Amino acid sequence: MGDKLKQNDSPGVVQDFEEQERCIRLIAKELLSSDTVDVVIGFQEDDIGGSPIPLFARSPEQAEKLVWNENCWRNLAPYFKRFDGKVAVVAKPCDTRSIVNLIAENQLERENITIIGIECGGVLNRDGVLAHGCLGCTSTVPAIWDYPVAADGGKEFIGLPSPPSTDTFVDFNADSSREDRRNRFLREIDKCILCYSCRQACPGCYCESCFVDRKMTNWHQRDVDTGNKIAFHLTRAMHLAGRCVTCGACENVCPSGVSLKYIYDEINRFIEDQYDFRAGINADLPSAMNSFDQTDRDTGFLGGEGI
Ligand code: SF4
Ligand code: SF4
Repeated sequence: MGDKLKQNDSPGVVQDFEEQERCIRLIAKELLSSDTVDVVIGFQEDDIGGSPIPLFARSPEQAEKLVWNENCWRNLAPYFKRFDGKVAVVAKPCDTRSIVNLIAENQLERENITIIGIECGGVLNRDGVLAHGCLGCTSTVPAIWDYPVAADGGKEFIGLPSPPSTDTFVDFNADSSREDRRNRFLREIDKCILCYSCRQACPGCYCESCFVDRKMTNWHQRDVDTGNKIAFHLTRAMHLAGRCVTCGACENVCPSGVSLKYIYDEINRFIEDQYDFRAGINADLPSAMNSFDQTDRDTGFLGGEGI
């Protein structure tokens, strides 16, 4: 067993990326040569030196280009909608939670997707440090899979520990006044330039016509002023309530360094507290936003009703 990464300060528990990559290629080649799937979506090296980019392998020969390493931070779920046939995907645990979510929301047929599920102890972002979204990760093993690829390259997940959470956002929100929380939120979104990359990267943002692109009502302007930023981020947060799978893809692509984890950790905590529900765990459960109960309370988050 190799010894390539010890990101999580857990002696003796390591992730062997080389062995995992070898297994991914073997599985992909088998799936393609047996015509079990039409395409395998995974990662390939970026020839000009960036983080690995998506690969859509349609033959065993192309599957030889699949790579897997600590820089594979992208969530590949947004690419599913490009394909009609049988698709296989290389999926980290957070990516598998977005697949569960897509199945639960009738966006994906389970029988049309083959999941090469990777045990993952965290990935590095574009700056080469542990991705913010990985801090306090809720599970290092896939929520759903067809072909398991354990941290040591075997078929039995070995129980890689999650990187510990060092964030204090939720504590801050729990302990602060409404005004402090609102100011904290406004300071964060002040950095936003309304490029909408976060929406593009998000596996939950699959509407063909996003509210910010609709011209008919013309109620959302593109000017980068605070009101438009509040409208975008709070509307998006409401749309993702009970659906965000904490994959961190939105924050990883943000060119302005907006801590979207700050917003989504809070709304995920809110949904867990209010509805005892976490997205992407069980495709048979209706999402929190699709279940109404007379006991549901009117309450706010990130500064409450007054924001
Ligand atoms: S809001 Fe961000 S963390 Fe949540 S599912 Fe979308 S991309 Fe992932
Ligand atoms: S990716 Fe960042 S800058 Fe772009 S809209 Fe999202 S939060 Fe704003």
